[in-house]
Amino acid sequence: MEKEKTLKIEKIKKGTVIDHIPVGRALKVLKILNIEGDIGQTVSIAIHVKSQKLGLKDVIKIEERILDSSELNKIALIAGGATISIVEDYDIVNKFEVEIPNEFSGIIKCSNPKCITNSNERVKSRFVTVSKKPLILKCHYCEREMEGEEIEENII
Ligand SMILES: [Zn+2]
Repeated sequence: MEKEKTLKIEKIKKGTVIDHIPVGRALKVLKILNIEGDIGQTVSIAIHVKSQKLGLKDVIKIEERILDSSELNKIALIAGGATISIVEDYDIVNKFEVEIPNEFSGIIKCSNPKCITNSNERVKSRFVTVSKKPLILKCHYCEREMEGEEIEENII
């Protein structure tokens, strides 16, 4: 099993491997990374892959692209437990699990239409993580709590 995993990751020369995505979530991850149509880079997607750790998982490999912290935070919100491997010259130079920050701003929209962050005031959204499992977020301004699909639907 370990060997199989290594082989899969070694296929790309340079870029990012997002592994251990909860099964069925790969397309949502692509959507939040704005990967649709031809983005000029090779993207490989494996859905419903056998995994020792999860039973089943999805895997995405993106060549020539390194994700920024806001993208990693978004992945943490919709695919908790996913691991990121940064690949250079077929070698993994960095590997870590995505982590939901305790507080963050600008990556999701508050679902309360009356919230100041949805007004014309140009206030950037800001959330506090109330619970990671299950995931519950609370708006810093209006205190609206969001969870599950509501979070996914409001990712910017
Ligand atoms: Zn709010």
